[in-house]
Amino acid sequence: MFDLNTIASLCKRRGFIFQSSEIYGGLGSVWDYGPLGVELKNNVKRAWWNSSVYERDDIFGMDASILMHPRVWEASGHLESFADPFIKCPACEKFFRTDENIAAKKPCPNCGKPLPEKSMSANLMFETLCGPVKETAQKVFFRPETAQGMFVNFLNILSSKHPKLPFGLAQIGKAFRNEITTGNFIFRTREFEQMEIEYFVRPEEAQASYKRWVEERFNWYVKLGIKTENLRTRPHSKEELAHYASACSDIEYNFPFGWSELEGIASRTDFDLKQHSKVSGKDLRYFDDASKQKFYPYIIEPSGGVDRSVLAFLVDSYREEKVRKEKRVVLSLHKDLAPVKAAVFPLLRNRPEIVKLAKSIHEDIRGKYNSVYDDTASIGRLYRRQDEAGTLYCVTVDVDSLEDKKVTVRDRDTMRQDRIDISRVKKYIEDKL
Ligand code: ATP
Repeated sequence: MFDLNTIASLCKRRGFIFQSSEIYGGLGSVWDYGPLGVELKNNVKRAWWNSSVYERDDIFGMDASILMHPRVWEASGHLESFADPFIKCPACEKFFRTDENIAAKKPCPNCGKPLPEKSMSANLMFETLCGPVKETAQKVFFRPETAQGMFVNFLNILSSKHPKLPFGLAQIGKAFRNEITTGNFIFRTREFEQMEIEYFVRPEEAQASYKRWVEERFNWYVKLGIKTENLRTRPHSKEELAHYASACSDIEYNFPFGWSELEGIASRTDFDLKQHSKVSGKDLRYFDDASKQKFYPYIIEPSGGVDRSVLAFLVDSYREEKVRKEKRVVLSLHKDLAPVKAAVFPLLRNRPEIVKLAKSIHEDIRGKYNSVYDDTASIGRLYRRQDEAGTLYCVTVDVDSLEDKKVTVRDRDTMRQDRIDISRVKKYIEDKL
């Protein structure tokens, strides 16, 4: 069994994820994605966009801005109640969320001294000023979720796309929360990305749609390689439900620090559209052609975190094994998620003809698939490097390649090596993918 530090150090070593502003000592709970990390993250987002937008006719994509009119947050309830209860240990000055099994009066989990009796609460939204002069600038917020950008564009979608219920909106974007307890690497951070769908349905269809979405979202993770035994659905109890929700389920992953939320699917009733109608004064009801009636659709919201998914895919694909008495670390990421599809090496980097041939194969592949050329170490080391990056195929050009016009292609998972014609390399990878 490995812990989160194993994953975090692999991420740093191979260029997946770095601490933000590290040379200045780092900024608390903010992370940067490096060359491999950005590819993995983009692949996760692409897989989500494909299944949520391109593979369906009933969901439209959109991209709303991060800064919104401050009254949005009045309507949504965030200004009033987007806060977590917390306590501060008077001895070690650490903060703890009191809804995370940390009860007041208990000893501090960090230093063991008694915690205070009363918890406090603070709004989690980041504030900033909009306008060049401080005195006249408007106080605005960095959105704590992407959802509101879809609710406030409901009328624009109705008038531009003329959709019929049920239909949805999908969006991927940054969100910001001034979290009290952070940590566990990229699990809970202050700046993160969400992938959210707002699915509008007739009120009488909400329950069935909610159930379908819980299943659909669970299966999305499985389809991308997460082991079923590491996933579970946890329905919220009545006490746990947010005031606007009639039902909610979390899809949880068995992280090294325990079962934790990966995504939440909420049945939000007609709360959001009603609230925005009330506060904006605009009629956000849907006109039903058949019954000639106007009503507020109900909303089902599958809301997942990009960064948490990235972490789950990394953890789930991490493997350590013994190969010829040596430790092999491999990320057996799903083929659609692997940051690099092929790596091309010359067996001898001091032979210009071999180097030239290897580079030309890499250039041929890279137009279609993400490919790297590497000649900076011995072949064994190059394989190990690519295994840790989750690279699917390693192509090696050797002395014989100059004569027989063949190369060796090694499969990441089986480590099987195939000798194939150079002219077939791209097709070979294409067929495998
Ligand atoms: P938690 O209780 O773990 O803080 P939440 O229930 O507040 O999460 P939601 O508001 O339902 O989270 O947000 C939807 C999704 O956005 C979460 O399932 C998670 O994947 C992601 N998310 C929320 N907060 C964070 C954060 N601080 N860092 C990274 N991802 C987050």
